[in-house]
Amino acid sequence: MITAETLLGLDGLLTDAQRAWQAKARAVGAVIARTVDDDAEREIFRREYVPLLAEAGMLGMPFTGYGCAGADSVSYGLVCYELEAVDTAWRTFVSVQGSLAMKAIYAFGSDEQKQRWLPPMATGQTLGCFCLTEPEGGSDPGSMSTSARRDGDGWILDGRKRWIGLASIADVAVVWARTPDGIRGFVVDTADPGFAATDIPAKLALRASIQCDVVLDGVRGELLPESTGLGSALACLTEARFGIVFGVMGAARASLNAAVERATSREVFGGPIAAKQLVQARLANSFVEYEKGMLLALHLGHLKDAKKLTPEQVSVGKLNNVREAIEIAHACREVLAGDGVTSEFAVMRHLANLEAVRTYEGTDDIHTLVIGRALTGISAF
Ligand code: FAD
Repeated sequence: MITAETLLGLDGLLTDAQRAWQAKARAVGAVIARTVDDDAEREIFRREYVPLLAEAGMLGMPFTGYGCAGADSVSYGLVCYELEAVDTAWRTFVSVQGSLAMKAIYAFGSDEQKQRWLPPMATGQTLGCFCLTEPEGGSDPGSMSTSARRDGDGWILDGRKRWIGLASIADVAVVWARTPDGIRGFVVDTADPGFAATDIPAKLALRASIQCDVVLDGVRGELLPESTGLGSALACLTEARFGIVFGVMGAARASLNAAVERATSREVFGGPIAAKQLVQARLANSFVEYEKGMLLALHLGHLKDAKKLTPEQVSVGKLNNVREAIEIAHACREVLAGDGVTSEFAVMRHLANLEAVRTYEGTDDIHTLVIGRALTGISAF
């Protein structure tokens, strides 16, 4: 029987090395899957899984040197895809640690900063967070009020950040702040007494993951010397959004597989619901969007490896794949009907997680406006 993974034979588009990364991520995902329902239910981020991901080379995976794997972009995407098939929380962890915090230091740090932070971040001994969003209007980070002022050789930072992944357990924070020369990135040691992070409680999405409110009260920061404005922060977001393009298709695949399994085993009106044309239409339409989403992800991966990927192209992928993954999870939840709203099936958990992904790293509206600006040359933000 055709499955969500085999309909168009996408596996045939992968190299052996890419398939090996995917298999490795699937094995790690299988370990996480043992507890993930319970972790989500009880809002637990299980730190003991971090070494598993680190040993598999999945932290800072696309970067070279500093103990990073130097893998190609499709392989990294496939790792995101397999982790998110288990739960978005773990793809988000890899995104925050690797694509945001490590990326900022890798791309904009001094040699000394890279030597100090990247190797322990690659091994997972040091956790990082990425502090861009503020309580007022996360969609417009250029209006940030967090400030940095010079103090001798260093800098002092003051301000507030919101929704910061991993902040309460992170050892190092990349903080974006306003200086007299514009927005710059800083590295902050979270042991500084002026750094305070409080977990945001009672989230209904990404429950197996941590997001925090952060207060910076006279915190010492080290400038990332190569950061040159908001564009540097946005470059990190582009890296993380690329992982999302693949990742959300993992959540879609998991939802589809659950719905097909259920449709063929559940009997209503004297036969399997899979024999009803309306149920087949839901499944077929979902499959079509899933396969298109995977093709788009693979295409963007190839562009990234060819160093041709633009932020606008990533916006197309993020907007389409998150939107379609939500539609797929929604349709699959309908196939599961009453049982679909229980935690017996992961579909509703995926659906809730995907709602958070729709918002972070740029909402649908923001990506629509990025694409609109690219098409018309007119900014409508
Ligand atoms: P707002 O900016 O207040 O937007 C509200 C609504 O207005 C949205 O629908 C938006 O699309 C719409 N809107 C805004 N501007 C326009 C416009 N010009 N035209 C049309 N519509 C518009 N941030 C970090 O820095 N680090 C993290 O690790 C991080 N992790 C996150 C994890 C989760 C689970 C979540 C939910 C958020 C995370 N964020 C993080 C923050 C995230 O990026 C922001 O939530 C996001 O950018 C949206 O900002 P906001 O929630 O303040 O919404």
